[in-house]
Amino acid sequence: QNQQVEGKVVLITGASSGIGESTARLLAANGAKVVLGARREERLQALAAEIRAEGGSVEYRKLDVTQSEDMEGFVRFAEEKFGRIDVIVNNAGVMPLSNLEEGKIEEWNRMIDVNIRGVLHGIAAALPVMRRQGGGHFVNIASIGAYEVTPTASVYCATKYAVRAISEGLRMETRREIRVTLVSPGVTESELADSISDEQARAAMREYRRIALPAQAIAEAIRYAISQPAGVDVNELVVRPSKDA
Ligand code: NDP
Repeated sequence: QNQQVEGKVVLITGASSGIGESTARLLAANGAKVVLGARREERLQALAAEIRAEGGSVEYRKLDVTQSEDMEGFVRFAEEKFGRIDVIVNNAGVMPLSNLEEGKIEEWNRMIDVNIRGVLHGIAAALPVMRRQGGGHFVNIASIGAYEVTPTASVYCATKYAVRAISEGLRMETRREIRVTLVSPGVTESELADSISDEQARAAMREYRRIALPAQAIAEAIRYAISQPAGVDVNELVVRPSKDA
């Protein structure tokens, strides 16, 4: 158990697989009260059962981050269950990569909706509660794509640059009261590449994923940020695999 993490109410979007799932397990094992959200409710149910069997404190609710009312309901649910919210990990994301010339407008829109609007919905729902409480912590998951652009990833990177800009703005606007941490993973084991419909981009990503970090490496970075004393605001963490692709 970790003293700073123990008892904290931590909401995690996109908790049904990959980084979100791993973060839920790690924080619950450290004594946090975790609230899981994602669209695949049966996954959340199974994960919650496992966490409970290990003695963890957990609730879950079906959540589509693209729907602002859904996000409001998720935050309200957490407050009803645990009385407050200490941290929201805005983690849900999709990455259907392709070159711009493929014109996959629907996929671009989905990335914008989930990766940008989803984070904004999380802020809109949680910020008033944190203000009322006089404190709170946003952990927003960006990517190394928030710092550099690569072919097939123009729109994905644009969404992550946006998450970085929004996080920085949020920190400036709420300084001293609310903590904001941007966590930017390099390639990590998860189901993220499953959302790639473009054959070429999918094959390239399969190759690249050979060096992937375990999802727990990112969960550890999130725990580090959360476990700091109240006066310490960890701004940005970039975590990459050490091996070359
Ligand atoms: P996964 O695909 O394993 O997890 C993504 C999660 O997001 C799932 O739980 C999924 O749940 C959820 N999700 C997708 N759409 C929605 C939605 N509309 N509403 C609610 N939840 C949604 O991938 P990762 O764990 O890798 O992704 C987590 C974050 O990490 C993302 O923001 C991603 O961009 C970022 N990242 C990942 C990297 C990697 O290499 N893996 C590298 C850099 C950043 P469900 O389908 O059940 O809704």
